[in-house]
Amino acid sequence: MVYLVFVDDSQQRGPLPREGLDDLVALGAVIMHEERMLDYTARVEDLRSRLEVSAEVEFKWKPPKGSFLAKASGDVVNELTQGMLKIAADCGVVSVVAVWDQGRTGWNKDDTESICRRMLFERIERHLDTEQELGIVICDEPGGGSKQIKSFLADCRTLLEEGTEYVQRKRILLPFMTAPSEHVAPLQLADLVTAATTAALAGHPRGLALLDLLRPLMRSNGFGQVGGYGLLLWPPPLVGLHYWIARDVTYRGKSIAPKGDPFVSSGNDFAEDCGLRHDDAPCDCGPETV
Ligand SMILES: [Zn+2]
Repeated sequence: MVYLVFVDDSQQRGPLPREGLDDLVALGAVIMHEERMLDYTARVEDLRSRLEVSAEVEFKWKPPKGSFLAKASGDVVNELTQGMLKIAADCGVVSVVAVWDQGRTGWNKDDTESICRRMLFERIERHLDTEQELGIVICDEPGGGSKQIKSFLADCRTLLEEGTEYVQRKRILLPFMTAPSEHVAPLQLADLVTAATTAALAGHPRGLALLDLLRPLMRSNGFGQVGGYGLLLWPPPLVGLHYWIARDVTYRGKSIAPKGDPFVSSGNDFAEDCGLRHDDAPCDCGPETV
């Protein structure tokens, strides 16, 4: 059996609402089993026809000015985004999103993306290995024309041939391929998941509002831990965000839940505080405490 893996990128430029973050560069993947593919497609088509969003309209988190979705009502856009995520969860979709704070690392965008791609490749291979299945990876076509596409494909091929320090290619059947997202509906889900996760990290309300629907998709280990599995954040001072975003209480065996001591941070910039301004309301980003 084969898993289909759809990949898209996203970006959030500072200044961001969440204090402590600068410029975010993200790459995300949604992993879908071949047997669920047609069910996913049919159910998204149903949702669209109910909302009167034609199949020709490409879903984009940031639709171009003047496009159908840019002009559609907020209710339609919300129902479409929430519906897509619910259908994805029903269809067993698993997500992996790598987000790098480029502002903190000082690397350029190309290097950052290439690192994120390696991280994603490792998690995709590991996921396929756990499931004892094979996979095919389809990436949203990079902008900029055929030269950019060719160099992107060449980079991906080198990655597959060489593997990384930790993971060799075993289960990804073909070199990464690219496709235009307007013609491949699940690439639009990759756009939604990657962009919404990045927006939530950035602290934008529209992304934060979707976290309850994004979390069930995030790849986790056997203990339900997402950090390092379905959410990869860099550099290390961001580690505490695994708690505020994914509600993990530990990361690699170390507690990341707030201890109520704002003076102990130990290299974790989000040890006690989510970094958002909630005005006068109490922070409700962490797990619900009963
Ligand atoms: Zn908060």
